[in-house]
Amino acid sequence: MSSVQEFRQRYRQAHIGPRYRGQLHLAFVVIFSLVGLILAGAQLESVTALEWLTVPLAFLYANVSEYAGHRWVMHRKVPGLGLVYKRHAGQHHRFFTDQDMALESWRDCRAVLFPAVLMLLFFGLFATPVGLLLFWLFSANVAWLFVMVALGYYLNYELFHLAYHLPDDSAVLKWPMIKRLRRLHHEHHRSDLMAHKNFNITYPIGDWLFGTRH
Ligand SMILES: [Zn+2]
Ligand SMILES: [Zn+2]
Repeated sequence: MSSVQEFRQRYRQAHIGPRYRGQLHLAFVVIFSLVGLILAGAQLESVTALEWLTVPLAFLYANVSEYAGHRWVMHRKVPGLGLVYKRHAGQHHRFFTDQDMALESWRDCRAVLFPAVLMLLFFGLFATPVGLLLFWLFSANVAWLFVMVALGYYLNYELFHLAYHLPDDSAVLKWPMIKRLRRLHHEHHRSDLMAHKNFNITYPIGDWLFGTRH
């Protein structure tokens, strides 16, 4: 048995409970993000042209955060955030190597999607304070637009990352853009490259800015 298969067996036994359903996990991610998007969108009131600028700026901020989090937290032991490193470098990258990139069942979603607790923690710890700061500095519209971009970006991240780890013959992989981005992520899963190249999961803007695109 290959070392990946051995690791997968151990991981499934230790971390995937008998009642875990990948479909429910994915549904939770999608519903949480969409409901949040709708609720935040309902708060907007006559947004000015200047306030709409929040959208591209928040998108760039999210892209660079994705890059920085992946490069400097998920692939390096940061005091206090060791759990994130362990989950990513120690588990995700051992469950999926460039030779074995595909999920074998819905239950393997556990090794790809963020657990709900971590997701709520991220939003509570990172998005809410920034939203409040923007509200205080600029306006409620700017704050709500930021929250909407954060939720939309998060959903985008999870769906793309899951798509990259689907079997080669999956229908979504026929989309040329997904195919191209998936190739970049495959390269990232090479053991010699994972700590050095292709840190963006979605669009490789951070990799382009920091010169780490492979
Ligand atoms: Zn991956
Ligand atoms: Zn990684």
